[in-house]
Amino acid sequence: MIKVFENFDFSRVGQMQSLLEANGIKTFIRNQYGSSVMGEVPFVEVVPQLFVFEERDVARAHELLKLDLPSEPEGGDWVCSACSADVDANFHICWSCGAERG
Ligand SMILES: [Zn+2]
Repeated sequence: MIKVFENFDFSRVGQMQSLLEANGIKTFIRNQYGSSVMGEVPFVEVVPQLFVFEERDVARAHELLKLDLPSEPEGGDWVCSACSADVDANFHICWSCGAERG
C-alpha cells in the first residue's frame, strides 16, 4: 500500500478518494476517525492519509491529484488600478487602499 495524499482537512482527503475511486483506483483512508482520538496520540498520527493498494496505480493517482490541486497564484506582483501601489502576488487585495485585484 502506498500513500499518495495527506491533509489535515478530512473532507479534502475524502474528495481525493472519490476522485481516484471514480477513476477505477482502489484506495483507503487511514486515520479516518483521527479526530475522536485527538489528544491521546501525537497530532501527526491523526492526519488523514489516502493510500492506494496497487503500486501500478501510484503514478496515475499522482497525476489525478495534481490536476485537482489548486493552481498557483496567477502571475507575479501586480499594480493596484486604484492607487498604483505595488502589491505582492500572494495578496488579492491592495495593502494600501483595499481595492480588489483587477
Ligand atoms: Zn490600492
